[in-house]
Amino acid sequence: MKINVCDIEFDDLTPDEAVERGMALLDTPGASYIVTPNPEIAWACRRDAELKAIVNGADLVLADGIGIVYGAKILGRPMKGKVAGCDFILDMFARMEDTDKTVYLLGAKPGVVEKAAENLSSQFPGLKIVGTSDGYFKEDAPVVERINAVSPDLLLVCLGAPKQEKWMAANAERLDVRLMAGLGGSLDVFAGIVERAPEKWQKLGLEWLYRLKKEPKRIKRMSVLPAFLISMVGRRIAGK
Ligand code: UDP
Repeated sequence: MKINVCDIEFDDLTPDEAVERGMALLDTPGASYIVTPNPEIAWACRRDAELKAIVNGADLVLADGIGIVYGAKILGRPMKGKVAGCDFILDMFARMEDTDKTVYLLGAKPGVVEKAAENLSSQFPGLKIVGTSDGYFKEDAPVVERINAVSPDLLLVCLGAPKQEKWMAANAERLDVRLMAGLGGSLDVFAGIVERAPEKWQKLGLEWLYRLKKEPKRIKRMSVLPAFLISMVGRRIAGK
């Protein structure tokens, strides 16, 4: 079932259901893609029709962040909960360990993506990581060529939003992959250079606050959150 929040059609799924859908997409012909919008991306879509079309055209639209869940609640369309992109992909990796499915990591700074691959290989010894490329390239073609040389089943695209969403859409037709997932700063987390909030904070829905505490410069980006929620109240009142 889809739930509309701020004109984005989110898939209303539990984390387990999301992984089931993700695994099924690995066996679906063509290059499918997954997006993980948070309120910041949903808000950006209001002024970027191209981004909005890409996000709504995804095969799976996961509610990454408690802000989306609050927004849905305010609109009177409660969701099952958030599905953090980072957790989703770790669950996928756990499932992929017992299969012959392969993954390629694209994004983050040189050195960081390799470290992420190293850490993920220790955490998931059965995971088949068939390649890595950093996210600071000038031309798409050589990167696409490197990826196609190993035809991974899953491609992580971690270039930050909205770059990663636009990159996936622009390259989907020429990429020999089954599934792509746009996952922002996840490789930084897997490499251990960005720390995720402790579970207690996550359970309280305060991961964003922890991140702000660690990286105060994110305050400008996060300032869209109140505007986003107030806009949802306005929509509820207006019956939209
Ligand atoms: N990044 C990249 N290429 C770029 C710009 C950014 O690979 O041209 C990477 C950056 O190094 C970081 C990620 O994209 O690993 C963005 O992280 P951020 O936390 O800003 O993303 P969010 O999860 O907030 O979208």
